[in-house]
Amino acid sequence: MPPTIGEILQTAARELQATSPAPRLDTEVLLMHVFGLDRSALIARGHISLTDDQFHQLEKLIARRRGGEPVAYLTGTREFWSMALNVSPAVLIPRPETELLVEKALERIPRDAEWTIADLGTGSGAIALAIAKERPRCRVIATDISPPALDVARSNAARFNLTRVEFREGSWLEPLMSMKLDMIVSNPPYVRADDPHLQQGDIRFEPAQALAAGPDGLDDIRSIILSARDYLQPAAWLLFEHGWDQGNAVGLFLHRHGYRNIVCHPDIGGRDRVTACRL
Ligand code: GLN
Repeated sequence: MPPTIGEILQTAARELQATSPAPRLDTEVLLMHVFGLDRSALIARGHISLTDDQFHQLEKLIARRRGGEPVAYLTGTREFWSMALNVSPAVLIPRPETELLVEKALERIPRDAEWTIADLGTGSGAIALAIAKERPRCRVIATDISPPALDVARSNAARFNLTRVEFREGSWLEPLMSMKLDMIVSNPPYVRADDPHLQQGDIRFEPAQALAAGPDGLDDIRSIILSARDYLQPAAWLLFEHGWDQGNAVGLFLHRHGYRNIVCHPDIGGRDRVTACRL
């Protein structure tokens, strides 16, 4: 006889203790996925037994989670800006701190603006779709070098009916040719290639190409800063995410290459996270 939801919450959470920083939450999310229920409905049904099928499905998911696979890849979804986005191992799992980049971008885009905005290395499409949702009159173009990532992003645009967002395949600004933009946003890779954190935990399952960027983690940020100058209208904005210890280096590089109004915004943990500037 398969166990009840309440029993699973205890046993599975115990099994995940060695791998997961949040074993109980992971178990809840996997159960919610198997049952198709939200959290409160699940908790209210603690006394209900799983069917054999549900139990097997859950056991497989728990085994994969014990092997380190991120919960978002197991369920195929992650919430960002109140949208449950499709995710797959082809894309970085959207992080809550990236909502800061969206917020800071929106603060600079007037409500009724009809700007042309590019999101570089869009991955799941998280940033582009959040901006398109909040600023429906803007033309949002999202690029990515990875065709499977673009498939995920397109599926999300369709899912949230944000079908005006355009997707183009290529490296950073390359697919935009000679366009003139009012804003560029990006969450590029910025982790140092030798950062031991890349070999630990969930991040091992994410695309390395979306995470690591050369010896100091700034290879892609520098390349975006340099090429963005040819695409930005006068006084147009560039905003991007970076590591907590990269704010100064990024600010100096921007200053040296003619950008002004350089502001580094801290995340909720008080650490440097997003830099905004204009040409
Ligand atoms: N913040 C991510 C991490 O450290 C990195 C994301 C990125 O490189 N853009 O896990």
